[in-house]
Amino acid sequence: MADVDTIKAIQLKKVQSLVLRASYENEFYRRLFADAGVAAAEISSLEEFAARVPTISKPDFVADQATDPPFGRRFAHARELGVPLFVNTTSGTSGQGQEIHMQTGPELQVTGEVYSYWFRWAGLEPGNQLFLTLPITMFAGGVLEYHGAVCYGLTVHSVGNYEASRKVTLMRRFEPEAVLANTSYMGRLESLLGSEPLWPQLKCLLTGAEGAGIVFLQRLAEAWGVPVFDRYGSAQAGNDHLFTCEMGIGDPSRPGMMHNIDPYVLLEVVDPDTGRHVNEGEEGELIITSLYRTDTPLIRCRIGDWAVYHGPDYCTCGRPFMGVETASIFRRDDVKKIKGVGVWPQAVNDAIFAAADVAEYQVTLTSEQGADIATVGVMSKLPLQGEELVHLQRRVADNLRDKTGINFEIIILQPGALDVGELKAKRWIDQRAHTV
Ligand SMILES: [Zn+2]
Repeated sequence: MADVDTIKAIQLKKVQSLVLRASYENEFYRRLFADAGVAAAEISSLEEFAARVPTISKPDFVADQATDPPFGRRFAHARELGVPLFVNTTSGTSGQGQEIHMQTGPELQVTGEVYSYWFRWAGLEPGNQLFLTLPITMFAGGVLEYHGAVCYGLTVHSVGNYEASRKVTLMRRFEPEAVLANTSYMGRLESLLGSEPLWPQLKCLLTGAEGAGIVFLQRLAEAWGVPVFDRYGSAQAGNDHLFTCEMGIGDPSRPGMMHNIDPYVLLEVVDPDTGRHVNEGEEGELIITSLYRTDTPLIRCRIGDWAVYHGPDYCTCGRPFMGVETASIFRRDDVKKIKGVGVWPQAVNDAIFAAADVAEYQVTLTSEQGADIATVGVMSKLPLQGEELVHLQRRVADNLRDKTGINFEIIILQPGALDVGELKAKRWIDQRAHTV
């Protein structure tokens, strides 16, 4: 296995050629680099790359698309190559603020190689059956996992368009080795499994694509009786490239690690105020450079997500890949200020799901005469009444107060009261007059 220095040398070589090619072939980057005074020949280290090459983010993509609709100048080169293009949009129905991302067919093959790490670490073998519960749409999530799984050699059942109950019926019929879903949706499927034992062929659950606490992931592993392997990626990167290994998700006292697939994607975890890479165990903003997408480059993209950084030594598996702490990834925008206190959604998640009989929840923030009111609708797994109901109410309120220091009003909802979406759970509703 390559060591850290060898990987860094590979990354530097790829970064140098990426910047050089983009300077010649890609009008979007050519202008960006010219404005910032970046010359490819001057990048002699990864530190120099980070210091000199400017970051890009959503407003740059949206402006580029407005200049040369619908794709933008950054994809003009790829569109002339005469190869298939795989186009994804981010969410946003009107097209306003919606980003378009793309990769070529040959690049998508390499995306498949990146996914192979995840499936291999999860103990899957070519020929195993995978139930892919994400719908195939223009979103990146779904189609990328599909290609990744096919590339690795899995037998993919694409059941994303069926209702949850139909998915479960099909699962019991085909008995797949793996189920792939966004994390909250795995909980939705779990609620429909019934009491019959699961099929013995099931090896693992493949989760991710949304922030979840370790407690919820542990609960999934326990309920399904198999380990959970978590993922992180983005439409911008065009793949998932951070995965937990066989050492697992860890537990709240010692969270596990999601390894970045360093030879393919350069991950920086940066303090945006100083621009420096954060130290071991510190939190920073994620900046992504795809090292293999040379025709549709993504160079130093700020995704808008934050996480706790760990070097390779953090994980006992010994792999030379750096990464971030499991369940530490969050969007800065998602941290809620409630009653003057910054509340981390994962902490709320952990506190609520620590009660085993909770199926789903929804937090509603309102204000009365300028004061915040935080109400949590907690949906129980089984119908509750009387003392049981009061007991759950108290337990959740106490857990939340312990974890966040804030009093939440708890309303216990009967099973079915909360609509669990087919994609990602909508767990926060902010109706305050002035959100801060
Ligand atoms: Zn590991």
